[in-house]
Amino acid sequence: MFSLNNKTALITGGASGIGLAISETFAQAGATIHILELNREAAEVAAGQIRAAGGQAQAYGVDVSVQADVQAVVDQIAATGPIHVLVNNAGIAHIGTAETTTEADLDRIYSVNVKGVYNCLHAVLPYMKASGGGVILNMASIAATLGLSDRFAYSMSKGAVLSMTLSVAKDYLTHNIRCNCISPARVHTPFVDGFLAKNYPDRKDEMFAKLSASQPIGRMGKPAEVASLALYLCTDEAGFITGTDYPIDGGVVRLST
Ligand code: NAD
Repeated sequence: MFSLNNKTALITGGASGIGLAISETFAQAGATIHILELNREAAEVAAGQIRAAGGQAQAYGVDVSVQADVQAVVDQIAATGPIHVLVNNAGIAHIGTAETTTEADLDRIYSVNVKGVYNCLHAVLPYMKASGGGVILNMASIAATLGLSDRFAYSMSKGAVLSMTLSVAKDYLTHNIRCNCISPARVHTPFVDGFLAKNYPDRKDEMFAKLSASQPIGRMGKPAEVASLALYLCTDEAGFITGTDYPIDGGVVRLST
């Protein structure tokens, strides 16, 4: 069960945090991994580690917000064979309300979290259609449906990821392409550690505990837990699932009082 043998998977932002866990998990399940990363060096390290562990992985330095660059990399990968799986995971965060978010902030979040997803969909969908189908998984967030406090631009962008998921799922039903998204609550990744180090250098432990307690289950998620759900959704066992948003949130959406 849950095999990706002989499948090719593109994973954006696949060199850190949740994306890295997905790259490793999918490689262990037999997929050939293509990591599309802004941080090429980290992508080379991740791909090297996967190969050292017996898997197959390639790294590409690409900014998902630049359409021509995404198209060129996708064309290059598609020339080697069918693309079976696309995981749109790359994303960036921002703190601010509608008042404190500047035009530049909004454009930056939009260009990576929204346009970056569109760019990858735009480039990959024609190849999936031509090869008879595929699976797309987008990384949304509980912000998409809850609208997190002081996360105006980020919540906007993840709402767009959710609606792009639904739109693609509908448009490509007859092309045998499934499209779903995952909505994690707080997951312990380098992003969280960086955020605490930058904003609360003297209160890191206290704030880590606070962020952990904001999930009713009492802790943050682990990247590997998100990767396990991602694996399921991208395998044939999930063949009846499309157009769905999966919370993985320690109870936030349903159990918070
Ligand atoms: P992370 O910062 O650890 O990793 C993100 C990766 O994306 C990095 O390697 C970065 O280099 C890459 N990236 C950023 N901009 C890029 C671009 N323009 N082009 C290509 N690659 C780019 O982040 P993470 O915490 O693992 O988050 C991964 C995804 O999960 C994001 O979409 C995030 O919004 C979402 N998410 C995270 C959490 C959380 O608590 N960590 C919760 C809900 C959703």
